Amino acid sequence: MGIPAETDILVIGGGPAGSSAATELARRGYRVMLVDKARHPRKVVGESILPHAWRYFDLLGATELVAREGFVKKAGGVVAWDGKLSEISFRDFEFDRPGLHVERAALDHLLLNNARAAGVQVFEGVMAESFVEDRGEGAQVWLLDIESKDRRRVTCRFFIDASGQASFVGRQLGAIRLDPDFRFITLWGYFTGSRYVGSGGIVRPFEYLIHHPPMTFVCSLGNWGWAWHIPLRKNTSVGILVPFDDYKKRADAARSREQYFLDTCMANPHLGALSDLFDRRRGGALCGRARRMGDRCFVAPTRECIHVPKSVRGAVGRAGPALPHRGAADRGSIPACSRCRKGFFRFYSGIGKAADVVRRVDDHAFG
Ligand SMILES: Cc1cc2nc3c(=O)[nH]c(=O)nc-3n(C[C@H](O)[C@H](O)[C@H](O)COP(=O)(O)OP(=O)(O)OC[C@H]3O[C@@H](n4cnc5c(N)ncnc54)[C@H](O)[C@@H]3O)c2cc1C
Repeated sequence: MGIPAETDILVIGGGPAGSSAATELARRGYRVMLVDKARHPRKVVGESILPHAWRYFDLLGATELVAREGFVKKAGGVVAWDGKLSEISFRDFEFDRPGLHVERAALDHLLLNNARAAGVQVFEGVMAESFVEDRGEGAQVWLLDIESKDRRRVTCRFFIDASGQASFVGRQLGAIRLDPDFRFITLWGYFTGSRYVGSGGIVRPFEYLIHHPPMTFVCSLGNWGWAWHIPLRKNTSVGILVPFDDYKKRADAARSREQYFLDTCMANPHLGALSDLFDRRRGGALCGRARRMGDRCFVAPTRECIHVPKSVRGAVGRAGPALPHRGAADRGSIPACSRCRKGFFRFYSGIGKAADVVRRVDDHAFG
């Protein structure tokens, strides 16, 4: 395996969170080791990046690398919520750099390599299996090399759980509970032959992307769901988030998961207006199969909190939202922590309210 038996800091997970934490700590002189069970570039979703991200790229010394990669630059967002069309332009918020539509596999790979360059020892295809606290002195983490099946125990002063929705620590502590109010399912796919939504809600052919920057297009679906449409360099990411019960009811009636996904998109007047996307006869094509992401929404309050074992609290300082989970786990029951819940509702209603506070788009512009 070639993994040292001991380090200052072990980071579990090589997504943006893990790579960033590892880079920053290595630059401060700590010995940092990072393990990821996947090999990069790995499949991952989450392509719409706000301009704020440049601040973090600056911090990590990755700005040049990201700029050179040539991701699609976006100008803002167009939102169709409950029939109203509106737009948020980053220029209006005085951002001097654009948002991005990124292939996440490429961005995450780039950030991981940036961590390596900063001196982080990176081991891919290595999974953290369990941890034990080391009498208050630190922790020991058991690692498994997925290919060779070799196991190794690493002693560290601190470890950081950056395993994303896998919630490495949360699982071991039994601190994961699904919140019945957040039973969503996400389906998404990548399409060629798409048109896209630009500033002013104007719909253009994909080939115009270079000359006319796209907006992230978001629309409400039914009473309690929404969809995204994100043009990338070669294809377009389209996804829907729908209540799980609704999915169960209607997907059973549809011929396949793909069919349910396409029907739901086409039934929406705005996504339907980009109909080349969903109509193979007119040149649209779904690349690969529609993917499915568990019965949770992606702003997953129970999954995306930072779970911190006692011994690691010192390292993350006031990492706040994690701590109620630990206490709640000890009591044996946790609904989503109230802060996360509020965050989600603010996000959901914020998208809707954007229709009121931000520029209204002429409905005729779309399509
Ligand atoms: C459907 C969907 C759409 C989204 N859309 C957007 C979007 O448009 N814009 C946006 O900003 N965000 C979006 N997100 C959220 C975004 O993807 C996540 O917030 C982001 O990936 C979190 O980064 P992370 O580094 O914490 O975790 P991740 O990127 O999930 O990385 C975690 C890493 O940990 C590794 N790992 C897990 N368990 C272990 C283990 N036991 N041992 C070793 N390694 C392990 C995994 O292999 C993975 O590489 C979306 C999420 C979903 C699900």
